[in-house]
Amino acid sequence: MKVAAMARTIGDSVRMLRMARKSERLVAIPMGEIGLPARILSLREGSALAYAQVAAATAPGQVHLRDMKNLYRAHRITQKTRVYGVIGNPIGHSLSPLLHNTGYVAAGKDAVYLPFLVERLDDFIKALPEFGVAGFSVTLPHKEAMFRYLDECEPLAERIGAVNTVTVRRNGSLYGSNTDYLGIQRALEGKMKLRGSRVLLFGAGGAARAAAFALAKAGAELHICARRDSAARTLARAVGGEVVKRATLRKARFDAVLNATPVGMHPHAGIAPLLAEELNCSLVMDLIYRPIQTKLLQKAAARGIRTVSGAEMFLAQGIAQWEQWMSCRAPEKSIRRVVLGALRAEEKHRW
Ligand code: NAP
Repeated sequence: MKVAAMARTIGDSVRMLRMARKSERLVAIPMGEIGLPARILSLREGSALAYAQVAAATAPGQVHLRDMKNLYRAHRITQKTRVYGVIGNPIGHSLSPLLHNTGYVAAGKDAVYLPFLVERLDDFIKALPEFGVAGFSVTLPHKEAMFRYLDECEPLAERIGAVNTVTVRRNGSLYGSNTDYLGIQRALEGKMKLRGSRVLLFGAGGAARAAAFALAKAGAELHICARRDSAARTLARAVGGEVVKRATLRKARFDAVLNATPVGMHPHAGIAPLLAEELNCSLVMDLIYRPIQTKLLQKAAARGIRTVSGAEMFLAQGIAQWEQWMSCRAPEKSIRRVVLGALRAEEKHRW
């Protein structure tokens, strides 16, 4: 018997998983983007087969055969396979499944990492035991709301005010941490001396907070500029930095300038958040990673300034998560090659 039903909530996905568990002579297919993880995990629960897209999709949420086999390795998933994932809304364009799954294949780990479209956080938290999730990445819009569900939290994540990594402990309790700040630190490590350096942070949102704490911890002198003075002041106070007015940037000199606003991100890649004359520094980092080489980085390079792409931060935060969950060094070279390759292919396809 085949049952294909649209999963409108995580709860619907769980019901399909339970159905798959009941009989080996049943094919359970949760449809739609919300149903994607259960579509793959229903095989583990005993569903006799799964459908995959070869040419055009024949049902909503169908995964391409190439991804089913190479990315999620659906045919290899057993009860022993450890399940990880990323939660967010939207989640379709996340590169985290590619990053983590590439690492599992290269390191020979029996684990799978799935994208969970989560509209209501409490629905997902309730379903954790049914999915058997051992850890998950958290992305927009759940990074702050996640705190409510944690049993314990890394003190730095608490100070940053955002959680991007949750580990499910053996007893089911949830431990939250933040690897975005490690992402910033590692992206800049070896490219500049952070201790004592003057850094301008443009923007004062979530990513800026992670960057500010990372830079302050590494001993940098922070200068924060944001379109809302009140946001810049709050962040400056939290990290012992200073607020800078936009009008003074043309004359100010910094060791590094970091963009933590979404200005210049795909599909608005033709614009930059700062003017070339406002880049008086030795290094510019853009936290944006779509595209890899933003307009801001192009402007900086044209002035002979060294550049660091947000792709470096994305890789470093994901690798830190991977290592936290696998308790070993990540196969960094393979992960870098595949993730940067995918970003470049995306750009080529787009333009
Ligand atoms: P966010 O919390 O929404 O904060 C965005 C910040 O940018 C706010 O300070 C906002 O000011 C400011 N801003 C937005 N539009 C602006 C404009 N037109 N001019 C001037 N300032 C503007 O977003 P976020 O999570 O921090 O993300 C910021 C960027 O970092 C995104 O592009 C994201 O993709 C990137 N990011 C990258 C990584 C990575 O791994 N590389 C990780 C996290 C985030 P208001 O408060 O006034 O709106």
